[in-house]
Amino acid sequence: ATPTAIMVGVGKGAENNILIKDAESLELGYRVNAVVLDKTGTITEGKPVVTDLHWLVSEGEQNRLASILYALEGQSEHPLANAVTEYLKRSDVSSVAINRFESVTGHGVTAEYERETYVIGNRQLIDRQGVSLHEDVEKQVDGLYKSAKTVVFFANQRQLLAVIAIADPVKATSRQAVETLQRRGITVYMLTGDNTQTAAAVASQVGIPQYRAEVLPADKAAFVQELQAQGNVVAMVGDGINDSQALAQADVSIAMGKGSDIAMDVAKMTLITSDLTSVPKALQLSRKTVQTIR
Ligand code: ADP
Ligand code: MG
Repeated sequence: ATPTAIMVGVGKGAENNILIKDAESLELGYRVNAVVLDKTGTITEGKPVVTDLHWLVSEGEQNRLASILYALEGQSEHPLANAVTEYLKRSDVSSVAINRFESVTGHGVTAEYERETYVIGNRQLIDRQGVSLHEDVEKQVDGLYKSAKTVVFFANQRQLLAVIAIADPVKATSRQAVETLQRRGITVYMLTGDNTQTAAAVASQVGIPQYRAEVLPADKAAFVQELQAQGNVVAMVGDGINDSQALAQADVSIAMGKGSDIAMDVAKMTLITSDLTSVPKALQLSRKTVQTIR
């Protein structure tokens, strides 16, 4: 496109809350035929809130364990950890001094307290500890998944201590944004580090048949690359540190406003609003910019 067309495009973007850092995106955007969306914070609000905390231990033990849980999540920077500490704060839980805190990327966190190891995180993390779920708990967890909740597990080496359900509602405009893209013949994918059942529930709420769950950050980038290898022009939309590799890999990278600074640094376009309908708008803008010069 001519410099003038590009300037007009960048200006139109700004009017529509789309910051375009790199003119190349404007020239590529109209060719995009695959859009990859991150789930948490991109399709959903990204403000997770604990809705249920089910203890699997006697009432007498709960206070002490709640303090350990509070200490563990207090050291984690994950948005889910924040949801848990906010929830515990409301019942005046105090913290304890834990040792050997470790964060297990894409799975959760672990630490020691009084010679016991504690973990809080996804199903794989407690599976690895060799902790199994009672049939009743399994059923309860399935119900939570169906309501699109993220479920995290708190355990020591011997047993499951608590199950925590966390809700992160889908943004009001996400479904519409997905439909608009699909109507234009673009295939929309959803990627998430969250578990398969929760991913399925969210994907169905917004009308995305193609999704992948339990995806680690490097695998998000590998997925984008896979689509490119099949001849697709790929736009990646994300908000988190764990999306930055995939954003860097994509042909067109779009960071959600209010996301992490790293995502915004890497991405060539940033949406100032957190409204997902800006994504089809941004791609449409590219079409118009390129058509102007033809
Ligand atoms: P997402 O794409 O959903 O942001 P992540 O890769 O960051 O995924 O995390 C994947 C999963 O790991 C979460 O859904 C959660 O089950 C678990 N997890 C990670 N960190 C924590 C934590 N601090 N507390 C509880 N669970 C966690
Ligand atoms: Mg995210």
